[in-house]
Amino acid sequence: MKYRWASATHTGRVRSNNEDAVYPPTSGAGDDSTLFIVADGMGGHVAGEVASRIAVDTAVDIVGGPTQRVIGANHALLLEVAEKPELAGMGTTMTLLEIVDDVAHIAHVGDSRAYLLRDGVLRQLTEDHTVAAEYVAAGRLSPEEAMTHPQRNMITRALGLTQDLLVDEVEEPARPGDRFLLCSDGVNSMLTDDQIAEQLRADSPEEAAWGLVEAANAAGGNDNISAVVVDVVE
Ligand code: CA
Repeated sequence: MKYRWASATHTGRVRSNNEDAVYPPTSGAGDDSTLFIVADGMGGHVAGEVASRIAVDTAVDIVGGPTQRVIGANHALLLEVAEKPELAGMGTTMTLLEIVDDVAHIAHVGDSRAYLLRDGVLRQLTEDHTVAAEYVAAGRLSPEEAMTHPQRNMITRALGLTQDLLVDEVEEPARPGDRFLLCSDGVNSMLTDDQIAEQLRADSPEEAAWGLVEAANAAGGNDNISAVVVDVVE
């Protein structure tokens, strides 16, 4: 299969630095076994940026499947904190997509998201690991209520905090015409799924990725904004 992708990341309009990291760092095109990642770092001072950068660099270098990459990134963060106690408490989300032999494999921890636009219809492929999302899954909140719930940003799982990291795995057949999106919550906290779908209907992955950044900034840009858009060309 052949792919075209675009990566966009932006500090937003409120934060002073960008703690998100994306991979690949630039737009491009290629064949099988291409890797795509969004990581949203957290921690005081520069720790969030350090966490997402180490996690992405490690995940890219690891030899193994998507889940092994996320687990390896988690271990790298724990090692870094063991060596540099001033970084204690740093962590990151990671949503990683690897398409191999017509199948999209996603490994996921935290509140970044993977979406699929297929035949014009947007579907969220991952579940958020937040307190509010877990209330929704348990039937205690509606999805609409979760969007404004005070604990919507409270993450229940992240890389860098524990050895025993539970990684969600999602598999989806990849078809020509599919458009995958990986994004940090700076996109989906500012935009509804309908607004995300509207931007994703743009012609090129570049227009879609940067359209999401522009739209999230126009809606307030309260957080760092990252989008990796991947088209399955053939
Ligand atoms: Ca964020």
